[in-house]
Amino acid sequence: MECVRRSVPNDNSCLFYAVAYLVDGPDAVSDATQKELRRVCAEAATADPDPEARAVLLGSPVDEYAEWIQKPHNWGGEHEIIALANHFRRCICVVSADATLNYGDKGPTIYVLYTGTHYDPLVGLSDGAETPQFLDGAGAAFEAAARDIAVRHREKVARRDASEKIYRIRCCGCGAKLVDSDAFQAHCGEVEHGDDFAYECEDIFEATYDEEA
Ligand SMILES: [Zn+2]
Repeated sequence: MECVRRSVPNDNSCLFYAVAYLVDGPDAVSDATQKELRRVCAEAATADPDPEARAVLLGSPVDEYAEWIQKPHNWGGEHEIIALANHFRRCICVVSADATLNYGDKGPTIYVLYTGTHYDPLVGLSDGAETPQFLDGAGAAFEAAARDIAVRHREKVARRDASEKIYRIRCCGCGAKLVDSDAFQAHCGEVEHGDDFAYECEDIFEATYDEEA
């Protein structure tokens, strides 16, 4: 069985979408779902019989946490993964380029890719049929393939970042974009401009990188 990355929207609620996808299917990826699952996390905290101990774990009083996690711009992370594992009675295996971490000890296992800034669901695929949950875990080969997806993603991001170029100057003569004033000097020496060219330039900020890298 092949391990395949599915994608969910990249809008701060991706953890909730990824888990919902794996538990309830692609149609569960919705705004209503992220609200519902944020409420589940909030209620798990406020319903804790030992709110003081919970507050220590969360790093803030349970009421404050409950309010915080229900704001759609705040990201889900480890606390929310634990709450969702309990709520859905699933083991959640989070696979990143650095580690494979398991949360929960009840029910089938679901696999989530963590890129460092985004969560996506990982599914098994064989003959076009998708397997989102695994009763006894997906096995070592699947987990190795999942890890490989995470590592390849990280390498791709690193190549893209390395290709980044920031232009800070635009030539007022011809509009060429240059990375710095030295490059502009060189440009003035290399490129013929009109007679009225006064060696003027303006400050800009434009970053480019190679998406395909
Ligand atoms: Zn120029």
